[in-house]
Amino acid sequence: MTSTQVTDAAESDHESALETARRQLREAATHVDVDGGVIERLKHPTRVVEVSVPLRRDDGSVEVFTGYRAQHDDVRGPYKGGLRYHPEVTAEECVGLSMWMTWKCAVMDLPFGGGKGGIVVDPKNLSEGEKERLTRRFAEEIRDEVGPSQDIPAPDMGTDAKTMAWFMDAYSMQQGETIPGVVTGKPPVVGGSYGREEAPGRSVAIVAREAIDYYGKEIDDVSVAVQGYGSVGANAARLLQDWGADVVAVSDVNGGIYDTAGLDTHAIPTHSEQPEGVMGQDAPNTVTNAELLELDVDVLIPAAVGNVITRDNADRIRADIVVEGANGPTTSGADAVLNERDVPVLPDILANAGGVTVSYFEWLQDINRRKWSAERVRNELESEMLSAWSDVREEVEAADVSWRDAAYVVALTRIGKAKEARGLWP
Ligand code: GLU
Repeated sequence: MTSTQVTDAAESDHESALETARRQLREAATHVDVDGGVIERLKHPTRVVEVSVPLRRDDGSVEVFTGYRAQHDDVRGPYKGGLRYHPEVTAEECVGLSMWMTWKCAVMDLPFGGGKGGIVVDPKNLSEGEKERLTRRFAEEIRDEVGPSQDIPAPDMGTDAKTMAWFMDAYSMQQGETIPGVVTGKPPVVGGSYGREEAPGRSVAIVAREAIDYYGKEIDDVSVAVQGYGSVGANAARLLQDWGADVVAVSDVNGGIYDTAGLDTHAIPTHSEQPEGVMGQDAPNTVTNAELLELDVDVLIPAAVGNVITRDNADRIRADIVVEGANGPTTSGADAVLNERDVPVLPDILANAGGVTVSYFEWLQDINRRKWSAERVRNELESEMLSAWSDVREEVEAADVSWRDAAYVVALTRIGKAKEARGLWP
């Protein structure tokens, strides 16, 4: 089992992130005119680095953790992607997630390839000081692999802006100069970008808004259910409410609240404002996480963990549109069922790509030593999202494929052309 899999559901169609990524690549390959050798190369990562990360615990004892950095492909630019601190991180999961980053960056037409890494650790069991020491030592262990033109990590599950500041500091101290562009998602005071934190949620909201319009609905009339009230889910929910939608249900790990008249999403604390605070809010009804997915709403946004929409519940999804906030929330079995039922699924590699897009803006600001205003970040993100949306929409219409297949086709075509133009070395 990997961390993208929920462990409490009796499901038959679980597959690892790597299996999913490879299968999606095979499927997409049938729709694109790309040399078979290119597809073969894309099935394999360039490298996966495994390191031991010793940590002196607060009680004086020493514990050794395992860390990974998977670098999938860099034909379009440096490897890019998050660092995950989670007890179920595996090398294989990092490879799968790094492949998704390759497609995500290509669908957004960013000059990056895909990477992902992490440490097998439960950050909840670490003190602040332990987390800092672990991060600094990990940065040292993978120092030769990363760099602003080589591989640029970012936050992911279990890591945040503070983690990135420690990573950047450790790297910079060893290199002998301040190099903010080695990671993104830092606090703005040390070279982070305004708007990076809210970016994945904002892009989910933008894609939901465009899909609502595309399918002939008015945003003022739609109801939305959001699973997960971390940064992605909460920012998406709040923006959609600001734009006129009724957000009728939201949840965290303990379950959800439901009000057909619409919730005040700004009054509900996000995970970072108050961990697991959703169920403490007043609302006429509560729902389990499983029930939330099956509510009769216009738009469903799974923004918590992977593999929550499965072959087992896909038939009972009543939403008209699904917008993926988490990475990999829909299993392949569920994807087939929803496709059959004509329920459009706006894929993660498009919908939550605002995160890596603002990471790109942050990297540009770092290497140019020039800060952008929050307004500029918002405007540029809006225009990047609209342009990726229309590239994918054109493919949906031209090839009569699902939104996921269309996004893969756009990504794979760009990567394939770059590989063909560069050729195989030597
Ligand atoms: N971890 C995020 C993702 O899955 C962001 C990666 C980045 O900004 O590099 O897209």
